Amino acid sequence: FKGKCAYCGKKLSLETMHIDHVCPKNSGGSNQIENLFPSCPECNASKGIKSLDDFRLHLMLSNSKFFGIINYKQWQGLN
Ligand SMILES: [Zn+2]
Repeated sequence: FKGKCAYCGKKLSLETMHIDHVCPKNSGGSNQIENLFPSCPECNASKGIKSLDDFRLHLMLSNSKFFGIINYKQWQGLN
């Protein structure tokens, strides 16, 4: 990932980098390297237990005019 957050592209340092489980451990995600992405603290905290698809939807909504009006779960319910 060339030293960048896998989700937002922010430059990471070893001191602040988080390791995110792409498929959350509580959803059966493993500790295998394929399931571990470098992330910034903000993306890791924001992603939480969301799946990759849910988090992408969350990021899209966060950058849209719907931010603060509906969340990604409500958006999914509309589609
Ligand atoms: Zn990030």
